Amino acid sequence: MSRQIIVSKFGGTSMGSCEAMKRSAQIAKKFDSYLVIVSATSGTTDQLIALAKMASKGQMDESKALMTEIQNKHRKITEEARSSTDTVQILEGFFTELDLLVQNIALLRELTPRANDHILSLGERMSSVIFKDIMTKTLPDKEVRLLDARSIIRTDSHYGRAIPLIEDIGKNSAEKLDRHDNIVYVSQGFIGADREGNTTVLGRGGSDYSAALFAEGIRANVLQIWTDVAGVATTDPRIVPTAKIIPELSYEEAAEMAQYGAKILHPATIAPAVRCEIPVFVSSSFHDSLGGTWIRKVVKEQPTVRAITKRNKQALVTITTPKMFNAFGFMSEIFGIFAKHRISVDCVTTSEIAVAITVDLATLDHKKLIDELKEVARVEIDADYELISLIGNDLHIRPKIAKKIFSAIEDTNIRMMSLGASAHNFNFLVKESDSVSVINKLHKTLIEGL
Ligand code: ASP
Ligand code: MG
Repeated sequence: MSRQIIVSKFGGTSMGSCEAMKRSAQIAKKFDSYLVIVSATSGTTDQLIALAKMASKGQMDESKALMTEIQNKHRKITEEARSSTDTVQILEGFFTELDLLVQNIALLRELTPRANDHILSLGERMSSVIFKDIMTKTLPDKEVRLLDARSIIRTDSHYGRAIPLIEDIGKNSAEKLDRHDNIVYVSQGFIGADREGNTTVLGRGGSDYSAALFAEGIRANVLQIWTDVAGVATTDPRIVPTAKIIPELSYEEAAEMAQYGAKILHPATIAPAVRCEIPVFVSSSFHDSLGGTWIRKVVKEQPTVRAITKRNKQALVTITTPKMFNAFGFMSEIFGIFAKHRISVDCVTTSEIAVAITVDLATLDHKKLIDELKEVARVEIDADYELISLIGNDLHIRPKIAKKIFSAIEDTNIRMMSLGASAHNFNFLVKESDSVSVINKLHKTLIEGL
């Protein structure tokens, strides 16, 4: 095959209407995508979750009403798209399948995880069949094929959040996909099947992960993620209106950004692409002329500060004990307690007799954790903080950076900070009420260079 192998994933809003689907199909055409992965139409997965729950409680009237809503939404798209009779028939078949599942669940008043995954799979199966039809019309010179993701994405049987079996996926991709310049595949995100052939799902928002798994399986040259925001911005544009789209990010920077609160692709999501060093392009299917963000291994420029992120609702847990003075093993005792409760710790600073740790506020609902910490030390908790992170390169060694940062925000009270563990971030904790002004000041000085 002489063409570049491009995997393009379109999210729920890019599938949200006939118009959105047509726009997405034009993008796939423009880039000559080889494999297109789609999400369910926007809101459908939520509706299917609600539907399954209603059925399990035997609420037949409510279930019927919701089912009609789901059907009408999809029928409307097929009418507007003038879908082929075949497409409409397949879709009606899916409605019947859904109806049967709902009736059975309602009858038994029992929703098994396996049945739940099967119901959820219908969202992507419905959108993909409609989209395949639109693609066929958009690309009259190509052979557009509908591919059942369950024949490629093999997973374990951990319903609701199945783990993909990477080797099987590679093998299936090699065996079952034709490599030909003229072929375009349309398939579903989010869904897979276990070795017994039962339908599984990869967890909420799993379509990006699916696309990365497919990209790895077929050793794609590029993975494109099309959503409704034009790439990754230097900071949240709702906080700083002058925030700009970042043209290029390294895998490490992207991972740090996601870890510290940016609403971008989660690193775990694109891990399969990262493993094979496949560049990932993130852009908006609604405004593709705005460009987007490349996330790749090697980037041309390495600015000290590339982006500023913020994690909301943080708490600072300070654990103090005189036992720590000149002793050893205390840290491991403390972290052991966090580990036992599977709570992830974000930033840590220590003194002679105390350790201060930032955690998501929700962690504090975990009473057992706090009780256990209290058994070994004095515990103080401060809430209403936000963790601001500067993401960039060589932050730990660039000499004048600290001066710049601290003069920009000299009036702010910084409760805690951490620098040094990674070359890519500098974090500090400020009061929630200060964070918007802090981010604006830092963005001006460090990113806009004003
Ligand atoms: N449709 C699934 C969800 O809403 C997967 C996805 O869209 O990524 O969670
Ligand atoms: Mg999504």
